[in-house]
Amino acid sequence: MRNITASKLYDYMQCPHRVWRDIYGPQDEKIKKTNPFVQLLWDRGIVYEKEVISKSGKLLDLSNGSLEQRFKSTIEAMNKKTPLIYQGVLINDNIVGIPDLLKLMPDGTYIPVDIKSGAGREGVDENEGEEGKLKKHYAVQLALYVDVLNKLGFENKKQGLIIDINGNEVIYNLNETIGLKNKMTFWELYEQTFNNVSILVNNEDKNKPALGGICKLCPWYNSCHKWAEDNDDLTGLFYLGRSKRDVLEEDANIHNIQDILSIDVKELIELKKEDKNLLKGIGQATIEKIVKRADVLKNIKKPVLYNKIYLPSVSYELFFDIEDDPTQEFVYLHGIYQRNNGKEKFIDFTAKNISLEEEKTAWQNFWGYIKFLPKNDFAVYYYSPHEKSTYRRMQKKYPDVISEKELESFFENPNVIDLYGVVLKNTDWPLSSYSIKSLAVYLEFKWRDETPSGALSIEWFNKYIETGDKKILKRILLYNEDDCKATMILKDALYQMNKKY
Ligand code: SF4
Repeated sequence: MRNITASKLYDYMQCPHRVWRDIYGPQDEKIKKTNPFVQLLWDRGIVYEKEVISKSGKLLDLSNGSLEQRFKSTIEAMNKKTPLIYQGVLINDNIVGIPDLLKLMPDGTYIPVDIKSGAGREGVDENEGEEGKLKKHYAVQLALYVDVLNKLGFENKKQGLIIDINGNEVIYNLNETIGLKNKMTFWELYEQTFNNVSILVNNEDKNKPALGGICKLCPWYNSCHKWAEDNDDLTGLFYLGRSKRDVLEEDANIHNIQDILSIDVKELIELKKEDKNLLKGIGQATIEKIVKRADVLKNIKKPVLYNKIYLPSVSYELFFDIEDDPTQEFVYLHGIYQRNNGKEKFIDFTAKNISLEEEKTAWQNFWGYIKFLPKNDFAVYYYSPHEKSTYRRMQKKYPDVISEKELESFFENPNVIDLYGVVLKNTDWPLSSYSIKSLAVYLEFKWRDETPSGALSIEWFNKYIETGDKKILKRILLYNEDDCKATMILKDALYQMNKKY
């Protein structure tokens, strides 16, 4: 029987297929080299854990030795009521848990503690005073430790603790329900997850990959993409994820993209009206959209613009993209590719060290540049809502750089255009992803870097800060410039497509 660990539960929460593929997938297709960004996150997690541990006072360190030895020592230590145990091992049958800490509570019970280099809750907005929800993937990991503790006879009241990146101690009460709508408790979620993982690790069932944003950093990226292509899987259709794929397969017997083309939309909508449980979560608009997308992918095989779109005719066109490190909430680069009267140039506003001052100065300089442009005679193009939401967050951080009102009116300007929104609303492409990289590559644009990626740019920036190596900074700037240029290529393609209206 294979072991079930907290990290397997974590993987399952990220992607339900990952657990099976890790064990039974075609190992020769797995990318062997760890993604440098993933490595950066791991390294950062280790550094933070060490920092917390160094401040934790006296503890029993059980991080060395074989699992069996550590398990024996953990039981002995808990029987002796040792106040704090680091990297103790909990084993029961095939369940193996290694919480970062086991902490003795005043009532004599032990609570498992995990140190995380992320926020202890999700959707926290300190400025708005919002507390945020407990994270499911943290909860199931803590629940596994609690489960083993209880099975070993060490009572725990179904509670765990997270020490998060801000040093907050967040209690996870596993008897709590997941949300207002979802009445399942975190404990029930754990039991369900555990069962599903058990079935997968024992190869009693096999689930399928589902292409999505999460795949980008996964070592199975190439393998699952190949599988989706070979099987003409529905998740190869942009925006059709695992849950919709599974519903379409089960309720409508639609198993691949080709099958979508034979959907009789009217008939399906009528059937849906008669049976409210049919195709739950998939409305008429979605059905129509996926039929159109499948048609573009399989038959039309070129991009389609459904409506005339607004693309202003102005003297200055700016193609804009930011680079930021969300793990530190730090924006290190505001890049602009400027086109004016046929002349093109790249302008960057870059923070050269990780400090509030440097971040603020770069942002201030960006706004200085924007304010210098001829009023009503410029347009700004960017790709994704990320720029806007990041700038809103920055405005709260640096309210003296730009007021909320000024920032909002900048984004409300009809000449400041999120091309991703335009693409989503008005176009379809014969592609499984509508990311700027996919679209620009389709339009034959080439990034100069061999491995262009936003996640890698974060890793490069951290390396640049560490080493001061100017070559790394150059690579970051080149990459950002190409991202901005890719936005320009897309805008120009849309302009050409717009001509038919
Ligand atoms: S590539 Fe995607 S579908 Fe495949 S295992 Fe990884 S996350 Fe899951």
